[in-house]
Amino acid sequence: MPIETLPLIDHHCHGISPAQLDWKQFQALFSESYRPPPPGTNEFQKPLGLAIRSFCAPLLDLEPHVSGEAYVEKRLALGAAEVNRRLMRTSHLDCLIVDTGHRSSAIHSFEETGALAGRPAHEVVRIEAIIEEVAATGVSAENFARAFADRLAERSAGAVGLKSIVAYRCTFAIPQSAPAPAEIVKAVGAWMKASQAAGKFRIGDPTVIRHGLWVGAEICRAKKLPLQLHVGFGDPDIYMHACDPTHFTDFIAAMEKWQVPITLLHNWPFLKEAQWLSEVFENVYYDAGVILNYGAAESENILREALQIGKFQKFLFSTDAFGLSELYYLGAFLFRRAFQRILDSWIRDGFCSAKDADEIAALVARTNARRIYQGV
Ligand SMILES: [Zn+2]
Repeated sequence: MPIETLPLIDHHCHGISPAQLDWKQFQALFSESYRPPPPGTNEFQKPLGLAIRSFCAPLLDLEPHVSGEAYVEKRLALGAAEVNRRLMRTSHLDCLIVDTGHRSSAIHSFEETGALAGRPAHEVVRIEAIIEEVAATGVSAENFARAFADRLAERSAGAVGLKSIVAYRCTFAIPQSAPAPAEIVKAVGAWMKASQAAGKFRIGDPTVIRHGLWVGAEICRAKKLPLQLHVGFGDPDIYMHACDPTHFTDFIAAMEKWQVPITLLHNWPFLKEAQWLSEVFENVYYDAGVILNYGAAESENILREALQIGKFQKFLFSTDAFGLSELYYLGAFLFRRAFQRILDSWIRDGFCSAKDADEIAALVARTNARRIYQGV
């Protein structure tokens, strides 16, 4: 079956915004920055903006290459619900594996997001979101570890995986062993005191996050769930150079001993490092989500880079879409287009047969995800 028609398991995505998004709000959802574009310019002036105008516009009954202003105007006229339904149905996803830990009150739930696509959706629980949720209950530093373990176990009962954003919050260049109980109480106490003073619980303390990671890892080990790790591009608040996943080699090796699959998310600009880890470690999987959308016209070259030495049985499809149904649609469309072109060129050059290409496509589209995410 050609990859153009192959249903894809989106192994990492987020919910969709139900809001009527105006010119500014729409652009904010396809920017990775908190900063506005320079005066007199807009977010459509980059490859992702071109892709929205070229490939999403016809689904809104507009001509390709319509202006950004006309696109947003038509989006408002049709209504967010209709636009989301059209774009999601046309994405032809098999199922959605949704991270529910980011701005969950501003977006559709994972069930609602799946319903828009007309496909099943499954939840991935973000460890740091549960740390923040438990801290906000006013629990004491001494009782935090117990309360957190109970809440994470409860929240992950129906989940197909856990996720950590350790790299966003404190980079991968941190100690990787589980902290001792006394260290945890001390670190939680200091962080909660500072958070109460600031009126906001945002975890960035490496000791507390390491604790969360190891508690999450134990759940993954017991329940045979994969652990997703965010890598690189995907948040403005990072020290990019220290988000290289090879810093986390010791933790990855420990998870290999526990037979916990690690799925490295996004990975740009560390696509080579992610491939190397997936080559060496039995438990490492990776994707090139999000960056195919941002690369848009260059998505074929980016996917080629992601497959330089990539093991076909370790590579996963994801959109990393957040908020905009356009990002789901384009994520699937650009991936299919690029992957088909790459496989066709390999057939043309004699590197593989048409049968091999079908097998590779099937692995990446669904089989790899089903091997590690139970019940999807
Ligand atoms: Zn994401």
